[in-house]
Amino acid sequence: MSSFSIAIHGGAGTLLKEDISPELEQAYTNALNEALEAGYKILDQKGTALDAVVAATVSLENNILFNAGRGSVFTKKGLHEMDASVMEGHTLGAGAVAGVKNIVNPVLLAKEVMLHSDHVFLCAEGATEFALKRGIAMAGDDYFFSEFRYNQWKAMRDNDGYALDHSQQGVEQLMKDKKFGTVGAVACDAFGNIAAATSTGGMTNKKYGRIGDSPVIGAGTYANNQTCAISCTGHGEPFIKAVAAYDVSCRMQYKGLTLQEAMNEVVHENLIKLEAEGGMIGVDAQNNISMQFNSAGMYRAMKKSTGEYFTAIYK
Ligand code: ASP
Repeated sequence: MSSFSIAIHGGAGTLLKEDISPELEQAYTNALNEALEAGYKILDQKGTALDAVVAATVSLENNILFNAGRGSVFTKKGLHEMDASVMEGHTLGAGAVAGVKNIVNPVLLAKEVMLHSDHVFLCAEGATEFALKRGIAMAGDDYFFSEFRYNQWKAMRDNDGYALDHSQQGVEQLMKDKKFGTVGAVACDAFGNIAAATSTGGMTNKKYGRIGDSPVIGAGTYANNQTCAISCTGHGEPFIKAVAAYDVSCRMQYKGLTLQEAMNEVVHENLIKLEAEGGMIGVDAQNNISMQFNSAGMYRAMKKSTGEYFTAIYK
């Protein structure tokens, strides 16, 4: 039997053990395990890497703990505008949506764009029109309400700033304490194909239709069987400037680096130069997995058919 593997993340940032209660830490660990298993099960049943990363991401989107799908942060106007993308490595097929509202699982819409439209990237009302046509599940604003995110937003809404995710503190701390709750997955299936998916609510108090790196193919998500599949989390603006996910692929292709070496250069050298805090997970078609971040922590987990298994939050 050919081997297969999956890795997931639930965001990176200033995640310190002293700031997270044992109960919350356990809840995050359970959520990561659940998502990991949802993806792994598909690979184990000879499913595709694409289906596995989508299943893992759906599980994280459905969990209110993460800033994606149900637990998405509030915009300046008190709404939820979500971004997601998927890519598969053997066809270079890709699909993405940005600024979508009331979509239960934005990653499923991104996959739908990839498989059932002539396009790669849809946004806002047009994406919703497409979602309705394709029978994608929608929900009212109530579904996306969480007290924790609401309080984060309340602390910021009269301010011009915007913040990354997870912080419990007030506005100044929110700005200083960079925490990202985007989710994503990468996988290599038993056929040697790889895929990546990323989904996010973006940044608390964002305005003007701000879109980060998560739905941008090459920035937050990328997959190519010749090199790697990558899903990023972090401060979206510099990740876009760095074309972070594709940069890992380029360094493997043009410099002959391994996945680990390429991710190391991008996360710990190039992104640092751009003051881009965050991290990424990656897999190659030989089932090598790497999970790297330049912040204090990253919610992450991985599992291989060889038995290797790992869940972690802190460094
Ligand atoms: N990258 C996301 C964004 O900038 C945020 C995150 O990773 O949490 O929208």
